[in-house]
Amino acid sequence: MQRRDLLKLIGVGTLVASIENKVLSSTFNKNKGPIVLSTWYNQSVLANVEAWKILEAKGTALDAVEAGVQVSENDINNCCVGLGANPDREGHVTLDASIMNHQYEIGAVAALERIKSPIHIARLVMEKTPHVMLVGLGAQEFAVSQGAVLESTILSSHAQKAYDEWLKKSEYKPILNIEKKGGSQMPDPMKSGEFNHYTIGMIAMDIEGNLSGACTTSGMGFKMRGRVGDSPIIGAGLYVDNEVGAATATGHGEEVIRICGSFLVVEFMRQGYSPEQACKKAVERIRAKTPRDTKDIQVGFIAINKKGEHGGYALHDGFDYGVTQVGTATQQVKSKFILP
Ligand code: ASP
Repeated sequence: MQRRDLLKLIGVGTLVASIENKVLSSTFNKNKGPIVLSTWYNQSVLANVEAWKILEAKGTALDAVEAGVQVSENDINNCCVGLGANPDREGHVTLDASIMNHQYEIGAVAALERIKSPIHIARLVMEKTPHVMLVGLGAQEFAVSQGAVLESTILSSHAQKAYDEWLKKSEYKPILNIEKKGGSQMPDPMKSGEFNHYTIGMIAMDIEGNLSGACTTSGMGFKMRGRVGDSPIIGAGLYVDNEVGAATATGHGEEVIRICGSFLVVEFMRQGYSPEQACKKAVERIRAKTPRDTKDIQVGFIAINKKGEHGGYALHDGFDYGVTQVGTATQQVKSKFILP
């Protein structure tokens, strides 16, 4: 079934009149009020629907972003989020996630194995521990102590196929695929061998005007065992300042960490830049500072400010995101980019 047909079946109040893929200009403020954005339009289409159900019912942005990204975590066919995703180079699926609310409360997990919803465990770290991040076995033990089930270590069929393919050369080359030009290139899940990265980062503002964000991923496919990317690192893969705005990132995690990317985007918005300009300036910082060849690096940021304006920017063509607001179905925004 096509996603658009599925959405029509699901129904989300006023939202599901149609699911036209209108391409919006990157800075857009239809209404101040509930709004949710998430990275990579093809997964936003389903994830935002779940988040929107909560926002529409006057729920909190925090509940919305958790429920939204769980759609991707639960999708066994997603190449790069949740337990169905590509493994590391030793064959283990290891998951990273972070969450942040409107009160500077944060939680994160990294290198978490065999747990279905890392974002939920990140939220429990935030709400039930005196800490902000748990990793590896400790994170897994905490998850189980909170009632999470230890899932099987068997890879999903598409991940196994992709891994078998990778094993043929076993070449450790942590270079991300860069999307084909034109956007909306979130992978066909059954072709996940062609894709070695993606994340769902989601940021939302609720009816009270409060902001929250969530970010969850299996990180870079066939990564070194123990490698942690930007997604669980508050300030890198995700940042929220309820007075200013929220931002999240996808793409080459090492580069996002290098510049404290999402924090930087929020700080640019604090200086008065629009969400799109702020994302652009962060991407330009990567281009200026990275010791690597930017032709091999893709990074995309999305951001929202307190006025309900949103924007995104990427290093290369091909990045897009989905935005859902009052009275619209989830719409595709093709990000601008700085490299030819
Ligand atoms: N940022 C993720 C990581 O480096 C991957 C991605 O979003 O593409 O782990």
